Amino acid sequence: VTAVTDARVVVVGAGIVGVAHAITARESGYAVTVCERDGRPLGASVRNFGTLWPLGCADGAEREQARQGVRRWREVAERAGIWLAASGSLSLAYREEAWAVLGEYAAGQANAVLLEPAAVQRRFPAANGHGLRGALYSPEEAVVHPPSAMAGLVAYARSMGVVFHFGTPVVRVEAEAVETADGRRLPFDHLVVAAGEETRLLFPGAIAAAGVRRCRLQMLRTVPQPAGYAPGAIYSSDLTLCHYPAFRACPSTARLRARLEAELPAHAAWGVHVLAAPHFDGSLTVGDSHEHGEDFDPEWRTDVEQLILAALAEFLRLPDPRVASRWHGTYLRSTRGETQVVVQPQERVTLVTALGGLGMTLSWGLAQQTVDGWAERSD
Ligand SMILES: Cc1cc2nc3c(=O)[nH]c(=O)nc-3n(C[C@H](O)[C@H](O)[C@H](O)COP(=O)(O)OP(=O)(O)OC[C@H]3O[C@@H](n4cnc5c(N)ncnc54)[C@H](O)[C@@H]3O)c2cc1C
Repeated sequence: VTAVTDARVVVVGAGIVGVAHAITARESGYAVTVCERDGRPLGASVRNFGTLWPLGCADGAEREQARQGVRRWREVAERAGIWLAASGSLSLAYREEAWAVLGEYAAGQANAVLLEPAAVQRRFPAANGHGLRGALYSPEEAVVHPPSAMAGLVAYARSMGVVFHFGTPVVRVEAEAVETADGRRLPFDHLVVAAGEETRLLFPGAIAAAGVRRCRLQMLRTVPQPAGYAPGAIYSSDLTLCHYPAFRACPSTARLRARLEAELPAHAAWGVHVLAAPHFDGSLTVGDSHEHGEDFDPEWRTDVEQLILAALAEFLRLPDPRVASRWHGTYLRSTRGETQVVVQPQERVTLVTALGGLGMTLSWGLAQQTVDGWAERSD
Protein backbone atom coordinates (compact mmCIF):
# COMPACT_ATOMS: atom_id res chain seq x y z
CA VAL A 1 0.00 0.00 0.00
CA THR A 2 1.44 3.36 -1.02
CA ALA A 3 -0.03 5.95 1.34
CA VAL A 4 -1.03 9.11 -0.48
CA THR A 5 -4.11 9.85 1.59
CA ASP A 6 -6.00 8.63 4.60
CA ALA A 7 -9.36 9.76 3.23
CA ARG A 8 -12.28 7.39 3.89
CA VAL A 9 -13.79 5.37 1.06
CA VAL A 10 -16.98 3.39 1.52
CA VAL A 11 -17.97 0.84 -1.11
CA VAL A 12 -21.49 -0.58 -1.44
CA GLY A 13 -21.39 -4.14 -2.83
CA ALA A 14 -18.73 -6.87 -2.67
CA GLY A 15 -19.00 -8.06 -6.27
CA ILE A 16 -16.01 -7.71 -8.59
CA VAL A 17 -16.75 -4.02 -9.23
CA GLY A 18 -16.86 -3.19 -5.52
CA VAL A 19 -13.88 -5.35 -4.54
CA ALA A 20 -11.71 -4.10 -7.43
CA HIS A 21 -12.48 -0.54 -6.31
CA ALA A 22 -11.74 -1.44 -2.67
CA ILE A 23 -8.34 -2.99 -3.48
CA THR A 24 -7.37 -0.22 -5.91
CA ALA A 25 -8.35 2.51 -3.40
CA ARG A 26 -6.49 0.75 -0.59
CA GLU A 27 -3.37 0.51 -2.77
CA SER A 28 -3.52 4.30 -3.07
CA GLY A 29 -3.64 4.66 0.71
CA TYR A 30 -7.36 5.21 1.31
CA ALA A 31 -9.06 3.78 4.41
CA VAL A 32 -11.63 1.47 2.80
CA THR A 33 -14.81 -0.10 4.15
CA VAL A 34 -17.08 -2.37 2.07
CA CYS A 35 -20.74 -2.99 2.98
CA GLU A 36 -22.31 -6.07 1.40
CA ARG A 37 -25.94 -7.00 2.02
CA ASP A 38 -25.35 -10.77 1.70
CA GLY A 39 -23.14 -12.97 3.87
CA ARG A 40 -20.66 -13.30 0.98
CA PRO A 41 -20.54 -12.25 -2.69
CA LEU A 42 -23.48 -14.01 -4.36
CA GLY A 43 -24.27 -11.75 -7.32
CA ALA A 44 -23.19 -11.84 -10.96
CA SER A 45 -19.54 -11.98 -9.91
CA VAL A 46 -19.84 -15.57 -8.70
CA ARG A 47 -22.33 -16.62 -11.40
CA ASN A 48 -20.27 -15.99 -14.51
CA PHE A 49 -17.84 -18.06 -16.61
CA GLY A 50 -14.76 -16.47 -15.09
CA THR A 51 -13.37 -15.65 -18.50
CA LEU A 52 -11.10 -12.63 -18.74
CA TRP A 53 -11.82 -11.93 -22.32
CA PRO A 54 -10.19 -9.02 -24.22
CA LEU A 55 -11.10 -10.94 -27.39
CA GLY A 56 -14.74 -9.89 -27.03
CA CYS A 57 -14.04 -6.19 -26.43
CA ALA A 58 -14.18 -3.52 -29.10
CA ASP A 59 -10.77 -2.55 -30.45
CA GLY A 60 -9.31 0.59 -28.89
CA ALA A 61 -9.96 1.88 -25.37
CA GLU A 62 -12.21 -1.02 -24.36
CA ARG A 63 -9.68 -3.67 -25.46
CA GLU A 64 -6.92 -1.80 -23.59
CA GLN A 65 -9.07 -1.67 -20.45
CA ALA A 66 -9.64 -5.42 -20.81
CA ARG A 67 -5.90 -6.08 -21.18
CA GLN A 68 -5.30 -4.02 -18.06
CA GLY A 69 -7.94 -6.21 -16.37
CA VAL A 70 -6.13 -9.42 -17.32
CA ARG A 71 -2.78 -8.01 -16.11
CA ARG A 72 -4.30 -6.97 -12.77
CA TRP A 73 -6.07 -10.28 -12.30
CA ARG A 74 -2.80 -12.11 -12.96
CA GLU A 75 -0.84 -9.97 -10.48
CA VAL A 76 -3.45 -10.22 -7.75
CA ALA A 77 -4.12 -13.92 -8.37
CA GLU A 78 -0.44 -14.63 -7.97
CA ARG A 79 -0.18 -12.66 -4.72
CA ALA A 80 -3.45 -13.96 -3.31
CA GLY A 81 -3.07 -17.60 -4.35
CA ILE A 82 -6.15 -17.48 -6.62
CA TRP A 83 -6.38 -20.14 -9.35
CA LEU A 84 -6.08 -18.55 -12.81
CA ALA A 85 -5.39 -20.36 -16.07
CA ALA A 86 -3.75 -18.24 -18.78
CA SER A 87 -5.18 -20.63 -21.33
CA GLY A 88 -6.12 -18.31 -24.18
CA SER A 89 -9.29 -18.56 -26.22
CA LEU A 90 -10.28 -20.73 -29.17
CA SER A 91 -13.02 -19.42 -31.50
CA LEU A 92 -14.13 -22.25 -33.79
CA ALA A 93 -15.86 -21.65 -37.14
CA TYR A 94 -18.32 -24.12 -38.69
CA ARG A 95 -20.09 -21.90 -41.21
CA GLU A 96 -18.34 -20.23 -44.12
CA GLU A 97 -19.59 -16.84 -42.83
CA ALA A 98 -18.06 -17.46 -39.37
CA TRP A 99 -14.73 -18.37 -40.94
CA ALA A 100 -14.89 -15.11 -42.92
CA VAL A 101 -15.55 -13.13 -39.71
CA LEU A 102 -12.54 -14.74 -38.03
CA GLY A 103 -10.35 -13.92 -41.04
CA GLU A 104 -11.46 -10.28 -40.96
CA TYR A 105 -10.91 -10.08 -37.22
CA ALA A 106 -7.46 -11.69 -37.38
CA ALA A 107 -6.30 -9.23 -40.04
CA GLY A 108 -6.24 -6.45 -37.43
CA GLN A 109 -4.65 -8.43 -34.58
CA ALA A 110 -0.99 -9.02 -33.90
CA ASN A 111 -1.48 -11.81 -31.35
CA ALA A 112 -4.30 -13.94 -32.69
CA VAL A 113 -3.56 -16.76 -35.16
CA LEU A 114 -5.83 -18.55 -37.61
CA LEU A 115 -5.61 -22.35 -37.53
CA GLU A 116 -6.65 -24.76 -40.26
CA PRO A 117 -8.80 -27.72 -39.14
CA ALA A 118 -5.87 -30.17 -38.99
CA ALA A 119 -3.89 -27.81 -36.76
CA VAL A 120 -6.94 -27.31 -34.52
CA GLN A 121 -7.33 -31.06 -34.10
CA ARG A 122 -3.64 -31.50 -33.28
CA ARG A 123 -3.52 -28.74 -30.65
CA PHE A 124 -7.08 -28.95 -29.31
CA PRO A 125 -8.37 -32.52 -29.61
CA ALA A 126 -11.48 -31.61 -27.56
CA ALA A 127 -12.71 -29.47 -30.49
CA ASN A 128 -15.33 -31.13 -32.66
CA GLY A 129 -13.73 -31.63 -36.08
CA HIS A 130 -17.01 -32.41 -37.87
CA GLY A 131 -17.71 -29.59 -40.35
CA LEU A 132 -14.95 -27.45 -38.88
CA ARG A 133 -13.59 -24.75 -41.22
CA GLY A 134 -10.91 -23.45 -38.91
CA ALA A 135 -10.40 -21.49 -35.72
CA LEU A 136 -8.82 -18.40 -34.27
CA TYR A 137 -6.58 -18.88 -31.28
CA SER A 138 -5.85 -15.87 -29.10
CA PRO A 139 -3.33 -16.28 -26.25
CA GLU A 140 -4.38 -13.20 -24.23
CA GLU A 141 -7.46 -14.56 -22.48
CA ALA A 142 -7.51 -16.25 -19.09
CA VAL A 143 -10.02 -17.91 -16.83
CA VAL A 144 -10.70 -17.86 -13.10
CA HIS A 145 -13.16 -19.91 -11.07
CA PRO A 146 -15.57 -17.17 -9.96
CA PRO A 147 -16.72 -18.42 -6.52
CA SER A 148 -13.21 -19.23 -5.28
CA ALA A 149 -11.72 -16.18 -7.03
CA MET A 150 -14.13 -13.79 -5.29
CA ALA A 151 -13.53 -15.44 -1.90
CA GLY A 152 -9.77 -15.13 -2.55
CA LEU A 153 -10.08 -11.46 -3.51
CA VAL A 154 -12.03 -10.66 -0.34
CA ALA A 155 -9.38 -12.42 1.79
CA TYR A 156 -6.64 -10.55 -0.06
CA ALA A 157 -8.40 -7.19 0.39
CA ARG A 158 -8.78 -7.93 4.11
CA SER A 159 -5.07 -8.73 4.37
CA MET A 160 -4.40 -5.23 2.97
CA GLY A 161 -6.59 -3.63 5.63
CA VAL A 162 -9.91 -3.28 3.80
CA VAL A 163 -12.76 -3.66 6.31
CA PHE A 164 -15.77 -5.74 5.19
CA HIS A 165 -19.22 -5.62 6.78
CA PHE A 166 -21.15 -8.61 5.38
CA GLY A 167 -24.88 -9.06 5.98
CA THR A 168 -25.07 -5.28 5.94
CA PRO A 169 -27.41 -3.65 3.42
CA VAL A 170 -26.91 0.08 2.88
CA VAL A 171 -30.38 1.61 2.94
CA ARG A 172 -29.69 5.33 2.58
CA VAL A 173 -27.01 7.68 1.36
CA GLU A 174 -26.65 11.05 3.07
CA ALA A 175 -24.30 13.87 2.04
CA GLU A 176 -21.26 12.45 3.88
CA ALA A 177 -22.34 9.10 5.36
CA VAL A 178 -24.25 5.94 4.51
CA GLU A 179 -26.85 4.40 6.78
CA THR A 180 -27.01 0.61 7.11
CA ALA A 181 -30.13 -1.46 7.78
CA ASP A 182 -29.13 -1.92 11.43
CA GLY A 183 -28.94 1.85 11.93
CA ARG A 184 -25.18 2.41 11.77
CA ARG A 185 -23.80 5.49 10.04
CA LEU A 186 -20.50 5.14 8.17
CA PRO A 187 -18.93 8.45 7.15
CA PHE A 188 -17.15 8.76 3.80
CA ASP A 189 -15.06 11.17 1.79
CA HIS A 190 -15.74 9.10 -1.34
CA LEU A 191 -18.57 6.61 -1.83
CA VAL A 192 -18.62 3.96 -4.56
CA VAL A 193 -22.00 2.38 -5.22
CA ALA A 194 -21.34 -0.97 -6.95
CA ALA A 195 -24.69 -2.61 -6.25
CA GLY A 196 -24.83 -4.74 -9.42
CA GLU A 197 -28.34 -5.39 -10.72
CA GLU A 198 -30.03 -3.74 -7.71
CA THR A 199 -31.69 -0.62 -9.13
CA ARG A 200 -34.54 0.24 -6.81
CA LEU A 201 -32.98 1.18 -3.49
CA LEU A 202 -30.09 3.61 -3.98
CA PHE A 203 -30.42 6.40 -6.55
CA PRO A 204 -33.21 4.74 -8.59
CA GLY A 205 -33.80 7.97 -10.52
CA ALA A 206 -30.16 8.29 -11.58
CA ILE A 207 -30.07 4.62 -12.63
CA ALA A 208 -33.29 4.93 -14.64
CA ALA A 209 -31.96 8.04 -16.37
CA ALA A 210 -28.70 6.27 -17.28
CA GLY A 211 -30.42 4.04 -19.86
CA VAL A 212 -29.69 0.59 -18.43
CA ARG A 213 -31.69 -2.60 -18.60
CA ARG A 214 -31.62 -5.91 -16.71
CA CYS A 215 -30.47 -9.02 -18.50
CA ARG A 216 -30.85 -12.54 -17.09
CA LEU A 217 -28.78 -15.50 -18.24
CA GLN A 218 -29.07 -19.27 -17.83
CA MET A 219 -25.87 -21.11 -16.94
CA LEU A 220 -24.73 -24.60 -16.05
CA ARG A 221 -21.66 -26.47 -14.92
CA THR A 222 -20.76 -29.97 -16.11
CA VAL A 223 -19.50 -32.69 -13.83
CA PRO A 224 -15.69 -32.94 -13.70
CA GLN A 225 -14.51 -34.62 -16.89
CA PRO A 226 -12.39 -37.79 -16.81
CA ALA A 227 -8.67 -37.44 -16.02
CA GLY A 228 -6.63 -36.65 -19.12
CA TYR A 229 -9.35 -34.56 -20.80
CA ALA A 230 -7.86 -31.10 -21.24
CA PRO A 231 -9.63 -28.62 -23.54
CA GLY A 232 -6.61 -26.29 -23.18
CA ALA A 233 -8.52 -23.04 -23.88
CA ILE A 234 -11.82 -21.21 -23.48
CA TYR A 235 -14.00 -22.47 -26.37
CA SER A 236 -16.68 -20.69 -28.38
CA SER A 237 -18.04 -20.86 -31.92
CA ASP A 238 -20.22 -19.24 -34.58
CA LEU A 239 -23.05 -17.95 -32.33
CA THR A 240 -20.63 -16.04 -30.10
CA LEU A 241 -19.30 -14.00 -33.01
CA CYS A 242 -22.68 -12.25 -33.27
CA HIS A 243 -22.74 -11.42 -29.60
CA TYR A 244 -19.68 -9.40 -28.62
CA PRO A 245 -18.73 -5.84 -29.62
CA ALA A 246 -15.34 -6.97 -31.01
CA PHE A 247 -16.88 -8.57 -34.09
CA ARG A 248 -19.40 -5.86 -34.95
CA ALA A 249 -16.89 -4.11 -37.17
CA CYS A 250 -16.26 -7.25 -39.28
CA PRO A 251 -18.06 -6.96 -42.65
CA SER A 252 -19.20 -10.62 -42.62
CA THR A 253 -20.90 -10.50 -39.18
CA ALA A 254 -24.22 -9.32 -40.68
CA ARG A 255 -24.25 -12.30 -43.11
CA LEU A 256 -23.42 -14.70 -40.30
CA ARG A 257 -26.20 -13.26 -38.12
CA ALA A 258 -28.76 -13.56 -40.93
CA ARG A 259 -27.80 -17.20 -41.53
CA LEU A 260 -27.87 -18.13 -37.83
CA GLU A 261 -31.25 -16.44 -37.31
CA ALA A 262 -32.68 -18.44 -40.20
CA GLU A 263 -31.07 -21.75 -39.17
CA LEU A 264 -31.48 -21.45 -35.40
CA PRO A 265 -34.52 -19.23 -34.72
CA ALA A 266 -35.04 -20.50 -31.15
CA HIS A 267 -31.42 -19.72 -30.29
CA ALA A 268 -31.93 -16.23 -31.67
CA ALA A 269 -35.18 -15.73 -29.75
CA TRP A 270 -33.51 -16.65 -26.43
CA GLY A 271 -30.24 -14.88 -27.21
CA VAL A 272 -28.33 -18.14 -26.90
CA HIS A 273 -24.63 -18.19 -27.67
CA VAL A 274 -22.27 -20.64 -26.05
CA LEU A 275 -18.94 -20.41 -24.29
CA ALA A 276 -17.25 -23.26 -22.41
CA ALA A 277 -14.74 -22.36 -19.70
CA PRO A 278 -12.67 -25.17 -18.17
CA HIS A 279 -11.87 -25.02 -14.44
CA PHE A 280 -9.27 -26.59 -12.14
CA ASP A 281 -11.50 -29.46 -11.05
CA GLY A 282 -12.10 -30.67 -14.61
CA SER A 283 -15.62 -29.18 -14.81
CA LEU A 284 -16.68 -26.70 -17.48
CA THR A 285 -18.91 -23.69 -17.01
CA VAL A 286 -21.26 -23.49 -19.97
CA GLY A 287 -23.84 -20.90 -21.04
CA ASP A 288 -25.77 -18.85 -21.85
CA SER A 289 -29.09 -17.27 -22.87
CA HIS A 290 -30.17 -13.61 -22.61
CA GLU A 291 -33.56 -12.36 -21.42
CA HIS A 292 -34.16 -8.63 -21.14
CA GLY A 293 -36.61 -6.85 -18.86
CA GLU A 294 -37.25 -5.53 -15.36
CA ASP A 295 -38.57 -8.69 -13.71
CA PHE A 296 -38.31 -12.32 -14.78
CA ASP A 297 -40.39 -15.47 -14.33
CA PRO A 298 -38.77 -17.70 -11.72
CA GLU A 299 -38.71 -20.85 -13.87
CA TRP A 300 -35.57 -22.59 -15.00
CA ARG A 301 -36.19 -23.29 -18.73
CA THR A 302 -35.20 -26.82 -19.68
CA ASP A 303 -35.92 -26.01 -23.35
CA VAL A 304 -33.38 -23.18 -23.21
CA GLU A 305 -30.88 -25.53 -21.57
CA GLN A 306 -31.37 -27.93 -24.49
CA LEU A 307 -30.59 -25.08 -26.91
CA ILE A 308 -27.38 -24.35 -25.01
CA LEU A 309 -26.33 -28.02 -24.95
CA ALA A 310 -27.12 -28.46 -28.66
CA ALA A 311 -24.92 -25.48 -29.54
CA LEU A 312 -22.18 -26.81 -27.27
CA ALA A 313 -22.20 -30.21 -28.99
CA GLU A 314 -21.50 -28.50 -32.33
CA PHE A 315 -18.01 -27.49 -31.19
CA LEU A 316 -16.93 -29.42 -28.08
CA ARG A 317 -16.41 -33.12 -27.49
CA LEU A 318 -17.45 -33.79 -23.93
CA PRO A 319 -16.72 -37.28 -22.59
CA ASP A 320 -19.18 -36.87 -19.69
CA PRO A 321 -22.01 -34.48 -20.60
CA ARG A 322 -23.83 -34.71 -17.25
CA VAL A 323 -24.87 -31.37 -15.79
CA ALA A 324 -23.80 -30.94 -12.15
CA SER A 325 -25.46 -27.57 -11.42
CA ARG A 326 -27.61 -24.86 -12.93
CA TRP A 327 -28.23 -21.22 -12.04
CA HIS A 328 -29.36 -17.83 -13.27
CA GLY A 329 -27.22 -14.71 -13.29
CA THR A 330 -28.39 -11.14 -13.83
CA TYR A 331 -26.55 -7.98 -14.79
CA LEU A 332 -27.38 -4.53 -16.04
CA ARG A 333 -26.36 -3.46 -19.51
CA SER A 334 -26.46 -0.15 -21.28
CA THR A 335 -29.20 0.40 -23.85
CA ARG A 336 -26.95 3.07 -25.41
CA GLY A 337 -24.10 0.72 -26.25
CA GLU A 338 -21.85 1.91 -23.42
CA THR A 339 -19.26 -0.49 -22.02
CA GLN A 340 -19.91 0.69 -18.47
CA VAL A 341 -22.05 3.34 -16.85
CA VAL A 342 -20.50 5.78 -14.38
CA VAL A 343 -22.83 8.31 -12.76
CA GLN A 344 -22.21 11.00 -10.12
CA PRO A 345 -25.66 11.23 -8.49
CA GLN A 346 -24.37 13.62 -5.83
CA GLU A 347 -21.13 15.19 -4.61
CA ARG A 348 -18.57 12.55 -3.47
CA VAL A 349 -20.63 9.66 -4.84
CA THR A 350 -19.68 7.50 -7.85
CA LEU A 351 -22.20 4.93 -9.04
CA VAL A 352 -20.61 2.29 -11.24
CA THR A 353 -22.72 -0.24 -13.06
CA ALA A 354 -23.78 -1.93 -16.29
CA LEU A 355 -20.54 -3.65 -17.23
CA GLY A 356 -22.79 -6.19 -18.94
CA GLY A 357 -21.19 -9.49 -19.87
CA LEU A 358 -17.61 -8.26 -19.47
CA GLY A 359 -17.49 -7.01 -15.87
CA MET A 360 -14.95 -9.56 -14.68
CA THR A 361 -12.64 -8.38 -17.43
CA LEU A 362 -13.23 -4.63 -17.23
CA SER A 363 -13.60 -3.91 -13.48
CA TRP A 364 -9.95 -3.27 -12.65
CA GLY A 365 -9.55 -0.64 -15.34
CA LEU A 366 -12.75 1.05 -14.26
CA ALA A 367 -11.62 1.05 -10.61
CA GLN A 368 -8.33 2.68 -11.59
CA GLN A 369 -10.22 5.41 -13.48
CA THR A 370 -12.43 6.11 -10.46
CA VAL A 371 -9.52 6.30 -7.99
CA ASP A 372 -7.39 8.41 -10.37
CA GLY A 373 -10.38 10.76 -10.71
CA TRP A 374 -10.39 11.41 -6.95
CA ALA A 375 -6.69 12.29 -6.96
CA GLU A 376 -7.20 14.68 -9.90
CA ARG A 377 -10.06 16.43 -8.15
CA SER A 378 -8.07 16.94 -4.96
CA ASP A 379 -5.01 18.35 -6.85
C1 LIG B 1 -24.10 -15.50 -16.34
C2 LIG B 1 -23.06 -14.45 -16.48
C3 LIG B 1 -21.87 -14.73 -17.17
C4 LIG B 1 -20.89 -13.76 -17.26
N1 LIG B 1 -19.68 -14.08 -17.78
C5 LIG B 1 -18.64 -13.19 -17.72
C6 LIG B 1 -17.35 -13.56 -18.11
O1 LIG B 1 -17.07 -14.71 -18.42
N2 LIG B 1 -16.38 -12.61 -18.14
C7 LIG B 1 -16.62 -11.32 -17.75
O2 LIG B 1 -15.72 -10.51 -17.82
N3 LIG B 1 -17.84 -10.98 -17.27
C8 LIG B 1 -18.85 -11.87 -17.24
N4 LIG B 1 -20.08 -11.53 -16.79
C9 LIG B 1 -20.30 -10.18 -16.30
C10 LIG B 1 -19.85 -9.99 -14.87
O3 LIG B 1 -20.14 -11.13 -14.10
C11 LIG B 1 -20.58 -8.76 -14.29
O4 LIG B 1 -20.43 -7.65 -15.15
C12 LIG B 1 -19.98 -8.39 -12.94
O5 LIG B 1 -19.93 -9.54 -12.11
C13 LIG B 1 -20.78 -7.31 -12.27
O6 LIG B 1 -20.18 -7.07 -11.03
P1 LIG B 1 -20.89 -6.19 -9.93
O7 LIG B 1 -19.91 -6.08 -8.81
O8 LIG B 1 -21.42 -4.94 -10.56
O9 LIG B 1 -22.20 -7.01 -9.54
P2 LIG B 1 -22.49 -8.16 -8.47
O10 LIG B 1 -21.50 -9.25 -8.52
O11 LIG B 1 -23.92 -8.54 -8.67
O12 LIG B 1 -22.28 -7.46 -7.07
C14 LIG B 1 -23.14 -6.46 -6.55
C15 LIG B 1 -23.17 -6.67 -5.06
O13 LIG B 1 -23.84 -5.56 -4.45
C16 LIG B 1 -24.59 -6.05 -3.35
N5 LIG B 1 -25.59 -5.04 -3.01
C17 LIG B 1 -26.61 -4.59 -3.79
N6 LIG B 1 -27.30 -3.63 -3.15
C18 LIG B 1 -26.71 -3.45 -1.95
C19 LIG B 1 -26.97 -2.59 -0.84
N7 LIG B 1 -27.97 -1.70 -0.86
N8 LIG B 1 -26.17 -2.68 0.26
C20 LIG B 1 -25.13 -3.57 0.29
N9 LIG B 1 -24.86 -4.42 -0.73
C21 LIG B 1 -25.63 -4.35 -1.84
C22 LIG B 1 -25.15 -7.36 -3.87
O14 LIG B 1 -25.55 -8.20 -2.80
C23 LIG B 1 -23.98 -7.91 -4.65
O15 LIG B 1 -23.13 -8.77 -3.89
C24 LIG B 1 -21.10 -12.47 -16.71
C25 LIG B 1 -22.29 -12.20 -16.04
C26 LIG B 1 -23.26 -13.18 -15.89
C27 LIG B 1 -24.51 -12.88 -15.13
